[in-house]
Amino acid sequence: MTKYLGALIFLIVLGFCNMGVARTMEAVIIKQGKTNWRIVNVSDNEVCKFAAGELQRYLKEISGCELPLGAGEGPCIVLGIRKDLASDDNSLLPDSSNGFDGYAIAIIPDKIVIGGDNERGVVYGVYDLLERIGCRWFYPQQDPKDIEVIPRLSTVCVEIGKTAIASPIEYRICNASSFFFEIDPSAMKAQLDVAMKARYNGMGWQCDHRTPIGEQYKQMEKGGVNAEIKKRGMILHGPAHSYPHFLPNDFFGEHPEWFGMRNGKRVKQEFAGSQFCLSNPEARRTFIDNAEKFVLESPGLDIFCPLPFDGGQFCECPDCSKSTPTDLMFTLMNELIERLSLSAPNLLIETYGGYNPKDPPEKVKPHPKLRIAITAMVTMILSMTSGVTWKNGARRLREDLHYVSITPTILQHRGSPRLMRLCSKVIGGIS
Ligand SMILES: [Zn+2]
Repeated sequence: MTKYLGALIFLIVLGFCNMGVARTMEAVIIKQGKTNWRIVNVSDNEVCKFAAGELQRYLKEISGCELPLGAGEGPCIVLGIRKDLASDDNSLLPDSSNGFDGYAIAIIPDKIVIGGDNERGVVYGVYDLLERIGCRWFYPQQDPKDIEVIPRLSTVCVEIGKTAIASPIEYRICNASSFFFEIDPSAMKAQLDVAMKARYNGMGWQCDHRTPIGEQYKQMEKGGVNAEIKKRGMILHGPAHSYPHFLPNDFFGEHPEWFGMRNGKRVKQEFAGSQFCLSNPEARRTFIDNAEKFVLESPGLDIFCPLPFDGGQFCECPDCSKSTPTDLMFTLMNELIERLSLSAPNLLIETYGGYNPKDPPEKVKPHPKLRIAITAMVTMILSMTSGVTWKNGARRLREDLHYVSITPTILQHRGSPRLMRLCSKVIGGIS
């Protein structure tokens, strides 16, 4: 009995200690439905305004309290790009973490500072704070009726402390199911929203093959998808498998020699057909003319990544047979980069290194501006689960094969919500 009494006293004392510690170790933003806190955004740009709005919106949903926006007396949550913060606020933050799109948070009893290394970092910092309060977001198609967990609290508090975090990956492209084929703006907006919350910084668009590509871009623009991407500071990547849009099969009657050879016959770019004849300079010039027209009319595109039609074999003509598919693709992309360096100098240009990224080009050196994507899904899954394969593969491509840049493309497609969970923290999840 004495033994149990001792344990009971110990637990009671521990409980009192915890209560005392809890009071001094937390910033209480809202107490029993009331607050004198405010939200102060110090960076004058649309992305940081969006971040402040998200914080205000979710805190109201959690507690019913609307924190005023703007400077004033009393405790506050200050947010903005680090260089815009007052020196007192900046000095509360830890040093920036090495990497991309980083942010730091400092929480003291009467102030919370969220400093982004850039605009995106500010948005991520806001979502980090909301996660500390208990918010969770899920892939919208997993259960469309239950896409988020937002706690209902009359008292909202967060533990005091400091943290700084950044991603080791510069371009974190989310290939969400709604960005494949038909344009459905409402589904796309729901998925890009959760992608940003999961710390992706770009959306990967796979165009449809039936509708002209410029028209598809306009549908995204008209549906407000591009505006939602830019509002968050995200980037748009695409249009992926799209060669037939830039060298249309309509030319087949007039120029069969521009098209791929299969079993001794020229055939179109379609299932059981072939990729176009990439060794033909006129075919490449026509492709580049159309690609240039498209990108100049699609200013919301940040990474232009045209790829051969999915699953098609490469041309078997005598000239193409002298090269590997990767050499042929790099020849086309190098010429495309030369053309676009004058008309669209800020556009990033990307392709993948053949069907198998282990097959490097034999003769053609990629243009220094050409970005090489690793698209092997199996490699990516292994990398997400073990962290080994991707790193070794990436190192080999970069150091041994002299690939100039590497973009891991993280695939989230219909039927694979589990993968999204593996990738749910793109920042901090991979080292
Ligand atoms: Zn050929």
